[in-house]
Amino acid sequence: PILADQIAAGEVVERPASVVKELVENAIDADSTEIDVTIEDAGLKLIRVVDDGNGIDPSQVQTAFLRHATSKIAEQRDLFRVRTLGFRGEALPSISSVSNVVMKTSTGKTGVEVSYKGGKLVDQKAAEARKGTTVEVRSLFYNTPARLKYLSSPNTELSKISDMVNRLALSHPEIAFSLVSNGRELLRTSGRGDLLQVLGAIYGVKTVSKLALVKASELDLKIKGYVSLPELTRSSRNYISLILNGRFIRNYPLTRAVIEGYGSKLMIGRFPIAVIQIDVDPALIDVNVHPTKQEVRISDEPAIGKLIAEAIREMLAQKQLIPDA
Ligand code: ADP
Ligand code: MG
Repeated sequence: PILADQIAAGEVVERPASVVKELVENAIDADSTEIDVTIEDAGLKLIRVVDDGNGIDPSQVQTAFLRHATSKIAEQRDLFRVRTLGFRGEALPSISSVSNVVMKTSTGKTGVEVSYKGGKLVDQKAAEARKGTTVEVRSLFYNTPARLKYLSSPNTELSKISDMVNRLALSHPEIAFSLVSNGRELLRTSGRGDLLQVLGAIYGVKTVSKLALVKASELDLKIKGYVSLPELTRSSRNYISLILNGRFIRNYPLTRAVIEGYGSKLMIGRFPIAVIQIDVDPALIDVNVHPTKQEVRISDEPAIGKLIAEAIREMLAQKQLIPDA
């Protein structure tokens, strides 16, 4: 079973940022209100995620480290209405197969601490009953030297971690996030549900002053977000963030739709900063396309694209009528 976990780890945990993603998504799925991420040496020495979520009952904690053990979908038809970020039950076994993991968790009653080395349980003991979960991952990829060699420089790996936490914070403004790397705070959000505050924490207040609200809805489809005025652009599409039902996604047609909303107001090779939250009926999307779940299939993509492009077009037209607004 450990070999199968290491093979799955090849897909799920490509690099330290993927570990951060999986652990934080688990914390989000557990209804946490606060998630604190601590990194040492770009995640190779330590990745720690502390949450105040629902925790795991001591009787279930070993099960959580078994492959395809998920508490999130009970039957096959649940796959078509996934609301949680996780559902494949691959992250914990994959991560623990390529590192040393200590998890301390409590549902608020008794607490438990388990330690895994290279996928094997080495210790289980009672722990404090603080509601929530702490996962510490040490010596990542110590037993997969090829994986270690393939990693980029510590600075690049750290920036990938930072981008990942930023995206997760943008997807969940109602959760207070912090990211500390080698003792330095890289992000802190309030958790008060204010998307603009999260944008300010990531991009700075000066950028935020050049963003405008866009909002539109149609039947059971809703979009809401902030996009930059045409004077604030970037040379890369990477500043266009799409969040579908609380999940950060990559989607070329919808990214195009954001750009189309600007029409001729963007110069060639320039792109806006944008964050668009899209909310649709989960039955209309298929998230089970890729292990990292960043690619999804959406059944009415063109309608969503149209709504986004039109909302941006209208907002920009109004801004032109009122020059100082
Ligand atoms: P998945 O998220 O796909 O269900 P994981 O391997 O990531 O699979 O996690 C396995 C199970 O462990 C989850 O279904 C959940 O029940 C439990 N779990 C993991 N992390 C947490 C956490 N931070 N808080 C509460 N439960 C957790
Ligand atoms: Mg998970």
